[in-house]
Amino acid sequence: MKRFNVIIVGGGAAGLACAVALSENTDIDILIIEASERVGKKLSATGNGQGNVGNCDTSLSHYRSGNLPVVDKIISRGLSPESVRRRIFGSMLFKCDNIGRVYPQSLQASSLTDILLRRLNSRGVQMLLSTTVLDIREGFIVDCGDISFSADFVVLATGGKAQRQFKTDGSAYKLAQNFGHKLTPTRPAIVQLKTDTQYTKGLKGIRANCFVKAIIGGKCIKSVQGDVIFTDYGVSGNAIFYLSSELSARGGTLSIDFLPDVSAAAVAEVLNSRLSEGTSFCDILGGILHNGIARAVLKRVGAEDVDSIVKTVKNFTLEVTGTLGFDYAQVTQGGIDMRDIAENLESKLCKGLYFTGEILDVDGDCGGYNLHWAFASGVAVADDINSKFKK
Ligand SMILES: Cc1cc2nc3c(=O)[nH]c(=O)nc-3n(C[C@H](O)[C@H](O)[C@H](O)COP(=O)(O)OP(=O)(O)OC[C@H]3O[C@@H](n4cnc5c(N)ncnc54)[C@H](O)[C@@H]3O)c2cc1C
Repeated sequence: MKRFNVIIVGGGAAGLACAVALSENTDIDILIIEASERVGKKLSATGNGQGNVGNCDTSLSHYRSGNLPVVDKIISRGLSPESVRRRIFGSMLFKCDNIGRVYPQSLQASSLTDILLRRLNSRGVQMLLSTTVLDIREGFIVDCGDISFSADFVVLATGGKAQRQFKTDGSAYKLAQNFGHKLTPTRPAIVQLKTDTQYTKGLKGIRANCFVKAIIGGKCIKSVQGDVIFTDYGVSGNAIFYLSSELSARGGTLSIDFLPDVSAAAVAEVLNSRLSEGTSFCDILGGILHNGIARAVLKRVGAEDVDSIVKTVKNFTLEVTGTLGFDYAQVTQGGIDMRDIAENLESKLCKGLYFTGEILDVDGDCGGYNLHWAFASGVAVADDINSKFKK
């Protein structure tokens, strides 16, 4: 049975980042075992193919976890996001869009995977593709069915259960559970929301830039300005993805302002002027809102009353009834319970077993936070393992 210093299970964003940082020490033998026929398949699909690798606002408030202090330690442990990306990608140019999202200059996520592959190949990191790890035993013996390996350290980087076409269906949680690790409840996050469609039937395909609030228990817990896309089941779009992680867990209401850049008073003034110019109520929102949205607002108000129309334009509420589920979600909320994970991301239950990325009970907002977690946690694990080889 071939022995490696470190076996990384899963060649996604976190596993590849960990391997690149570990391979800075050329004395360490590394094997990545990946279930897909290629590494980095999900990474290559991120950010609509453009790879939103991070965000200029790195605050902890953009993350959810059962143990935020550990997440904080990892994302602010003296390595800035820029230095994390430099460790992984080497010399590279990134750019930041007008809302703080960081992308490679190429705007091509697959080019990120290409760079990682080139760096790993040039440093002699071995990869076994199209191979699923079925079991890991203390010691460590890593069992892939027809073939087994042994290792001094094992890193679990198998992701969560979002979008099973990337071989992330949640079956790998059992590799950790076999060591006594617990799984916190998992939910789809950064996902399309199902809503009450009574007033939005007929809006399918319409996209509007809105200010949207997530209301839970009567309180606005998060808000954002961005695109809302109406669908036959409810709503999608970047504003919805941003708010979905909170609403997926607790349910609630969306409050949509269709004219975020115009005050209620200014809208009322224009509508009243239109009436005095002889415009009829059914045309009063023409040219101000998309015709479909205008019809939905007027149908909902059901009265010829400017105040009610303005209120509905500025606060169009939709009850959230569910999500489209894991097959459509970008991330998994919940995962391996962080209470059994030490600050260096090593298992408290089994020395030498490490965790990185989405497998853990850590999820970030839409906007580059999940890839940043994958990269930062991968590099943190590599640095800890490396320090043990130096001793
Ligand atoms: C469509 C889409 C777009 C996204 N866009 C963004 C974005 O723009 N910005 C952002 O920050 N986040 C984005 N995300 C989220 C981000 O991609 C993930 O959070 C991140 O990839 C998690 O990294 P990971 O390495 O932990 O897991 P993954 O990237 O999911 O990798 C896990 C790997 O483990 C392998 N694996 C699983 N089980 C086994 C096993 N038993 N044996 C061997 N291998 C196994 C899988 O094949 C997979 O390659 C997006 C997600 C999706 C689905």
